[in-house]
Amino acid sequence: MNFDVAAIRDQFPILKREIDGKPLVYLDNAATTQKPQCVIDALVNYYSTCNSNVHRGAHRLADEATGRFEAARDIVKDFINASKREEVIWTTGTTEGINIVANGLGQLLSTGDEVITTGMEHHANLVTWQQACKASGAILRTVPVTDEGELDQVAYESMLNERTRFVALTQVSNALGTVNPVKAMTAKAKAVGARVLVDGAQGAAHGWANVQDIGCDFYVFSGHKLYGPMGIGILWGRESVLENWPVWRTGGEMIASVTLQDATWNVLPYRFEAGTPNVADAIALGEAIRWFTSLDQDAVMAHEKALLDHATALAEQFEGLTIVGTAKNKIGVLSFILDHGHPADIGFLLDRQGIAVRTGDHCAQPLMARFNVPGTARASFALYNTLEEVDALFVALKKVRTMLA
Ligand code: PMP
Repeated sequence: MNFDVAAIRDQFPILKREIDGKPLVYLDNAATTQKPQCVIDALVNYYSTCNSNVHRGAHRLADEATGRFEAARDIVKDFINASKREEVIWTTGTTEGINIVANGLGQLLSTGDEVITTGMEHHANLVTWQQACKASGAILRTVPVTDEGELDQVAYESMLNERTRFVALTQVSNALGTVNPVKAMTAKAKAVGARVLVDGAQGAAHGWANVQDIGCDFYVFSGHKLYGPMGIGILWGRESVLENWPVWRTGGEMIASVTLQDATWNVLPYRFEAGTPNVADAIALGEAIRWFTSLDQDAVMAHEKALLDHATALAEQFEGLTIVGTAKNKIGVLSFILDHGHPADIGFLLDRQGIAVRTGDHCAQPLMARFNVPGTARASFALYNTLEEVDALFVALKKVRTMLA
């Protein structure tokens, strides 16, 4: 195995930061990952050498910017194993991708149609479908979550029927780390003729974005959780589905022809890309994916699993700590509560010791309600974290528990 975590860390300038004189221990990677120098360089290089508007300029800079922008789309296409580059649409992130699909779905549904989502979704993949159902009179059904934090597959199967038009589910729970069997769940939804959207916000960061293998119709993710910049993301849609999907924003670039009274739409992918796109961040996301995929993926997986296993073992021995979410198949997320102290206090006191975790409901209020907690503290690991950082978390937590007792 070829994985040198020290060499990886060297590529992330922010990891050299200190917080009040203590080394930063960044364990909030499910919220956003840090960026390697090559991604930062890609942004600086774009603005320093070829900043220009794409697709429409008759000059050298516009040609170069367009070339780099479209080359980044090809990198994404290969990363997610899309069959066509036309299926890859730039968005601002996962949330926008889901909104584009849900906005169209709201126009396609009728009263009595059914949409299925789950009880462990990020609000982005729940509230959007609530709105689509409200707009159309469709019924929203939600797959319950078990005590371990897994989706109840028996309940899911019993919900699927000939009225099921759409299934939206997350590949990985951002709040608990549960990895869902999206391929099998997609196949079951397809068997009743439903379309499927997979929220890959957390899954793509682990390289599980093979859309043809999953078999879904839509796949969405954000660049910033994949070592890329904020403000850029991807909506992938199957060409035959996207071609007939209602357009979202209207404006420049997404039209074919316009008269004073009407307009026709451009071809894919441009019909879903109204206005000036986020060129620099798209190029930098391409660089992030190039960087990420150049790593030994098995070694990355093994490293992240070692971090989670170590953290889970320490958590299980830690007095007064309860892990929320104990699914068999999990990625590097440790969500927990302590017997004394609100998660917000835990986060505050960890921060004093240089340790960054996320606290609160993780944009998954129904899931917190399911576990009867106001929220959790969540440590989430990325490939640049170390076993020593996991140790540091638990040393710090000991102090927190004493302070809150
Ligand atoms: N879905 C999941 C599973 C997420 O983890 C997130 C981000 N926390 C989102 C959706 C929303 O992503 P973004 O805020 O980048 O649009």
